Amino acid sequence: MKKIIITIDGWSSCGKSTLAKQLAKTLNYVYIDSGAMYRAITLYFLRNHIDWTNEEEVNEALTHTHLHFEYNPKSSQSEIFLNDENVEYVIRDLVIAEKVSDVAAIAAIRSFAVAQQQKMGTKKGIVMDGRDIGTTVFPDAELKIFMTADISVRVERRFKEMFEKNPNITIEEVRSNLEMRDYIDSHREVSPLRKADDAVVIDNTHLTEAEQLHYAIALAMKLI
Ligand code: C5P
Repeated sequence: MKKIIITIDGWSSCGKSTLAKQLAKTLNYVYIDSGAMYRAITLYFLRNHIDWTNEEEVNEALTHTHLHFEYNPKSSQSEIFLNDENVEYVIRDLVIAEKVSDVAAIAAIRSFAVAQQQKMGTKKGIVMDGRDIGTTVFPDAELKIFMTADISVRVERRFKEMFEKNPNITIEEVRSNLEMRDYIDSHREVSPLRKADDAVVIDNTHLTEAEQLHYAIALAMKLI
């Protein structure tokens, strides 16, 4: 079977990673969560008090920021490592979510992440989700999906997920974080979030996980 590149972009918390993981599992492809890379860089910058508005400081810090993914058979997913520490779980914290979009808007940081993402796709057979995967990272990808869902549905889903780890979190905090990230991600100068012209839109407001997977698999099967 021919191997292709599948990109999944879209707004925060609209189920991109759920679909990407299921697609990768079904097709026996590698799944890469590009957002985890920006989150891990943000973690490094916060821990080391790096001023991301200072170009020199950013360039120096990036030389000490080593990222890689390792497959964990227990969680059945690739987990991200920052300088050999597994940070897959700490990067999901609201403290990181509050800063990540500012960090991800910096051109040098995007070039650093995009170069690594492009390398991961050289052999194809990959599903990558993010904000600029179909527009910038893999503009020639065979299948591009752009996901969306009503904001209230997205807030509800993310709240449930975060509440399990942090029962002090409020629905207002989750909503304002999602709205803020969507705004910054779609208004930044470098690679803003937008639908690639040749992307297929999936609005999953009223779709079950099984329905959206079925639809995406059908799209992929036409190409492989
Ligand atoms: O996908 P996730 O919500 O974990 O991504 C966290 C943040 O990383 C996004 O809100 C966005 O600011 C940034 N990001 C990005 N480009 C990507 C993936 C994520 O700018 N390809």
